[in-house]
Amino acid sequence: MTPRSRKGEVYLVGAGPGDPGLITVKGKELLEKADVIIHDSLIAVELLSNAKSDAEVIDVGKRGGKHLAEQDYINALLASKAKEGKKVVRLKGGDPFLFGRGGEEAEFLRKEGIRVHVVPGVTSAIAVPALAGIPVTHRHFASTATFITGHESADKEEDVDWEALASVGGTMVILMGISGMERNMRRLLDAGLDPLTPAAVVERGATADQRIVFGMASEIAEKCRKEKVKAPAVLVVGKVVLLSEELGDLR
Ligand code: SAH
Repeated sequence: MTPRSRKGEVYLVGAGPGDPGLITVKGKELLEKADVIIHDSLIAVELLSNAKSDAEVIDVGKRGGKHLAEQDYINALLASKAKEGKKVVRLKGGDPFLFGRGGEEAEFLRKEGIRVHVVPGVTSAIAVPALAGIPVTHRHFASTATFITGHESADKEEDVDWEALASVGGTMVILMGISGMERNMRRLLDAGLDPLTPAAVVERGATADQRIVFGMASEIAEKCRKEKVKAPAVLVVGKVVLLSEELGDLR
């Protein structure tokens, strides 16, 4: 075997938003062929039953903001398995390139000279609201949708300009937004967001445990605190939220 043919590769695969049926056909086929599967915690565990019986399955997920494994460790792990000549599937929740650090992993692997591919996934940012009866855009209510991280980061580059967002209009979809919701909503309201703007939080969307809390922008954070809403959850702010009254549960 030439060294070239022994070269492994990494597939960054989107697992979809929580329902195992919502992975792509290509993603499922890769799970069936992978020598190594390195996955996050926000994936439907049922998906792992597609793995070959001798596949190595490694959980590097984060739980409640706590990293089971640091990013540098994950990068090094992906690279070393690929360098052993293995077909590696890096299975990530939703879509790998939306707030999933997939971009960073791809950059790292490219620099290491490893072949890397991306298999996009059904992102929770669109699918979770959808299954709760909230289309993120709608001809009569919103012509834009902005995807925002609600997670405060020490990294300046990732800072979110909440003041500017308050005047964009359209729909705001906030991921990783539970622990910082009180602060983020306050910033939006202080910057002029209409306090009557409809909002909804969808917890564990696309699963049997899906739960929704509705409220106006001025009260949604408090309602979620009372209802003890926990991650993972998607916060949607905008008029499109009203459509869920008509559309209801679309799972
Ligand atoms: N790459 C992922 C997002 C990763 S960030 C994607 O495209 O979906 C993790 C955030 O995604 C969570 O904090 C939550 O806001 C959201 N999320 C993921 N799965 C979810 C689910 N089943 N229900 C609600 N929110 C979910």
